[in-house]
Amino acid sequence: MRAPCFAARVGVLCLLLGTACGSAPRGRVLLVGIDGATLRMVTPLIEAGRLPHLAALARDGFGGPLRAHEPLLSPRIWTSIATGMDPRRHGIVSFARPDAAGVRQLYRSSDRRVPALWNIASAAGLSVVVVNWWNTYPVEKVRGAMVSDHVLAMEIQGRRALTGAEPPTPASLAWPRVWNARLPQLLRDDAPLTRVANPFAQRERFAAWMNSEALARRYENDADIARIALALEAALSPDLLMVFLPGIDRVSHVLWAAVEPTSAYADPPRMDAEQRSAAAEALRLYYVYSDALIGRLMQRYGERDLVLVVSDHGFEAGRALGFLSGVHKSPGARDGVIFARGPGIVAGAGEPAASVNDVTPTVLAWLGLPVADDMDGRVAHFLAGAAPARVASYAGLPVERLESAVSVTEREVLAELRSLGYLDDAGGAAVTP
Ligand SMILES: [Zn+2]
Repeated sequence: MRAPCFAARVGVLCLLLGTACGSAPRGRVLLVGIDGATLRMVTPLIEAGRLPHLAALARDGFGGPLRAHEPLLSPRIWTSIATGMDPRRHGIVSFARPDAAGVRQLYRSSDRRVPALWNIASAAGLSVVVVNWWNTYPVEKVRGAMVSDHVLAMEIQGRRALTGAEPPTPASLAWPRVWNARLPQLLRDDAPLTRVANPFAQRERFAAWMNSEALARRYENDADIARIALALEAALSPDLLMVFLPGIDRVSHVLWAAVEPTSAYADPPRMDAEQRSAAAEALRLYYVYSDALIGRLMQRYGERDLVLVVSDHGFEAGRALGFLSGVHKSPGARDGVIFARGPGIVAGAGEPAASVNDVTPTVLAWLGLPVADDMDGRVAHFLAGAAPARVASYAGLPVERLESAVSVTEREVLAELRSLGYLDDAGGAAVTP
């Protein structure tokens, strides 16, 4: 049923673009982003048998490093992953920028100067679901559904609302709009998604400066994102599902010192031996948890489908804001991870590192869609026999968005970024492309 329909729809795009598309139709694509995951953690955990889903992807497909461009700022890199282009071309160069009145505001989807993978797939007649991807506010009218990356802050506000304040009206966080009303219901569901308990449940085991209560909320946030993605996937069975899980990055910023020798720090964060071992194991458990969430997301994807798991950078020892003990600032942290499994994926591991710019061309080629000449990336070496059709550019594709008013949660998102040291670190870059 799906294949001829898929081929026909791709054919329409090929006709529109005046090019020839040769690849045979395949199944669906799942692309999971895990912010800040590094092989320094993943490889020993796979060897210890603790990440069964990433291990299965590596066994049946490819696993290796994914190289980012510097500076290692998530919005730049995640937008490169979703466009195949360097930041100078796609336009999302940092976290925030001044608006016309000089007030700092977050980069928005409307600041992206080029179509993203979800726009290209939508235009090809494929259905797409995008959940929590960086810089997707205001949401775009894709052929399917999109839930903005401002949704987590909404959830934080929702919790504040429990203390007496009026809950905000979620507007423009999801497309189609009907999902705005369904999101609070999904977020109220607290049935465990995995068997991995919250690693931060025993607050007293952690040093006070680690703020284990905030870390515990990262676990809930990732579960919420996965719940939304699973609900949309079940409802729409999209040809392309893109989900972004931020938790590993957020907990690594705090816990990283526990997996580095104290000699890595001029001024090591204070932890006694028990706190160090609790923090190190909590970080490992957070990877175990993320792997379990990936397993849930992969459940309905079989051997005809392409599953990709990627991260935007790794981690290294460093101090920020006086207490954060993990950073990503130097070439030592520029490698994230990429795991890929599906028809055409050559089994293997390691070098050469693919580039963050290669993800979109690789997914397009796998789907049988043309790769654009103005993309900085190329089809990854681990996709065999890919001779994708070419198109000069997708620049002309229409991108429709919901209204672009400041989101009800923008202040929350800014506060969160500040708490991670991002805005201070990125202040200069925020205004300099
Ligand atoms: Zn980070």
